[in-house]
Amino acid sequence: MKIKNLFSRKPRVLSFELFPPKRDGNLEGLFQTVEELKKLGPDYISITYGAGGSTRDMTYDIAVRLKQVGMLPLMHFTCVGHSRAEIRQLLGKVKAAGIENLLALRGDPPKGETAFRPAPDGFRYANELVEFIRSQGFDFCLGVAGYPEGHSEAQSKEEDLLNLKRKVEAGGQFIVTQLFFDNRDYFGFVQKIQGLGITCPVQPGIWLLTDYAQIEKICHLAGAQYPQPLRERVEPVKDDKEKVAQVGVEYATEQCEGLLKNGAPGIHFYVMNKSRSVTAVLENLKAKGLMFH
Ligand SMILES: Cc1cc2nc3c(=O)[nH]c(=O)nc-3n(C[C@H](O)[C@H](O)[C@H](O)COP(=O)(O)OP(=O)(O)OC[C@H]3O[C@@H](n4cnc5c(N)ncnc54)[C@H](O)[C@@H]3O)c2cc1C
Repeated sequence: MKIKNLFSRKPRVLSFELFPPKRDGNLEGLFQTVEELKKLGPDYISITYGAGGSTRDMTYDIAVRLKQVGMLPLMHFTCVGHSRAEIRQLLGKVKAAGIENLLALRGDPPKGETAFRPAPDGFRYANELVEFIRSQGFDFCLGVAGYPEGHSEAQSKEEDLLNLKRKVEAGGQFIVTQLFFDNRDYFGFVQKIQGLGITCPVQPGIWLLTDYAQIEKICHLAGAQYPQPLRERVEPVKDDKEKVAQVGVEYATEQCEGLLKNGAPGIHFYVMNKSRSVTAVLENLKAKGLMFH
């Protein structure tokens, strides 16, 4: 199943994002979470691609195993550290495993490096990766990343949108957004890109706050604002983990409600390999009559 077809068949697409376990590479714990997530009926599950090393092989292994347990995988794929020949070979392997959907990304620089450096004979930008995948005749359904608040390295927000347009024109078929905490950023972004002639679905990415210590880090990494309305609710309970998670569920519920009622074509949850908060958010949405199925 190609994800672009899900968007044309369903008014709301539900997806979850996982990352390969870093510490010991043990997939059993992750797949216990997948069993929990499965009960929530996701349309697809995406799996991130690390900047290098063993987690990369794990991305592929997890995507294959997701298929085996009856889930539709979206495998993230970055340009970091790969030559064209390596990319071609890897794409062939992914294709042979029956994986149909890729999220084509430039990627973040490896740990310890601040600036992105293309690999020898590799790519500098995600649009080049998308073009390459198409030029090699691969018929993957391709998603690309979008940034409601602008990408941190972009010369300007306008330039960033034009660069997104390049990715879509090269063959990107749907957009998954970076996390954001103010829905106005998402709707403003959608309106602007539509003005540029981009008509593909833009699935908003929602992060579930469970840990106070992560907020500043995650906002920094994502280039997102930690807005005052969220700050005012989180700061008074910051020393109580349970209450922080509760605020996270309430805030995400309100964000999703606003998004879905105003026409967003689904939600992509950054679930951080956990099922509890997303389960609570989906229950809250169901109680408000906002279902995905
Ligand atoms: C949904 C989602 C999932 C992600 N998953 C992963 C993951 O699994 N692994 C990982 O390492 N990272 C992941 N990231 C992070 C992502 O790799 C970084 O944000 C990275 O810095 C940019 O990737 P991109 O594909 O958006 O790059 P690009 O689209 O290439 O953009 C990168 C920067 O270059 C500019 N630019 C783009 N094209 C051009 C051009 N042709 N000429 C001049 N400037 C240009 C853009 O404006 C932007 O500032 C994810 C991000 C999102 C939103």
